[in-house]
Amino acid sequence: MGRVLNRFQKGHEDMTRVLVTGGAAGIGLAVAKRFVASGARVLACDVDEATLNKALDDVPGLLGLPCDVSVVADIDALFSALDHQLGGLDVLVNNVGIGGPTLPADQLASEDWQRVLDINLTGTFEVTRRAIPLLKQSAGTIINMSSAAGRYGYPNRIAYATTKWGLIGFTKTLAMELGAHDITANAILPGAVGGERFDRVIAGRADISGRSIEEETALGLASQSIKRIVPPEHVADLAHFLTTPAGRSMSGAALPIDCDLQHG
Ligand code: NAD
Repeated sequence: MGRVLNRFQKGHEDMTRVLVTGGAAGIGLAVAKRFVASGARVLACDVDEATLNKALDDVPGLLGLPCDVSVVADIDALFSALDHQLGGLDVLVNNVGIGGPTLPADQLASEDWQRVLDINLTGTFEVTRRAIPLLKQSAGTIINMSSAAGRYGYPNRIAYATTKWGLIGFTKTLAMELGAHDITANAILPGAVGGERFDRVIAGRADISGRSIEEETALGLASQSIKRIVPPEHVADLAHFLTTPAGRSMSGAALPIDCDLQHG
């Protein structure tokens, strides 16, 4: 942990302070990069220290700390480091989310169900409740990474869909509770986003259906109006937009970015 903390940099001129959970890879890393590019001071936390170290090597200026959002002691350590190193927080991006096993409900083990809830919901809550006092000081922005699985049913991913719907209620409630402090809270609902996770999801579906990867990819795109996969950078641009003056006139919204996914 100490080695990563040493990568904190001082003397940066942009005062926007951003925390991205699960910021070492995928969408979280794209979001972290987007804010770094805009000149913000960005702290990425992630449970995967090796991947986090790689991200820190690849993105000059990015700050990082290992943290498992399902471990309260880790979150406490994250916030004391954040307070010490950034001196506050303007933007919280609750990006961490795991899918859990791809199984029908009656075959999903209780501990697998619980693990998805612990990370996707309770971890997000524990991070957010510690961030709120800091965000009240800065009139900050909260962005929660939900999913198209927070709009539709998602067969064989019942725990995931339950948490992603849960994050919508979480977001709308935060927007109402915190609006008087000029804090905005919005949820982003990506559909199929390119990257390793998308590849894993398709492989999981193919395992269950017996179809090929190519057939599963075509099936996935069949329910989208626009027949392509969303690049993670587009999700990052949407997150960044929510911190601009126009974006900060929006709160309590659930924003799909999914090439118009339709499940009828
Ligand atoms: P990913 O698996 O590529 O990256 C997630 C990061 O979170 C990883 O670096 C991982 O190490 C980290 N992480 C996992 N558990 C953690 C924990 N307990 N504590 C701290 N860090 C942890 O995922 P992604 O595809 O980039 O997805 C990011 C978010 O976007 C998730 O919430 C996901 O549900 C959501 N989402 C993704 C897609 C997609 O197609 N990729 C679609 C809809 C929604």
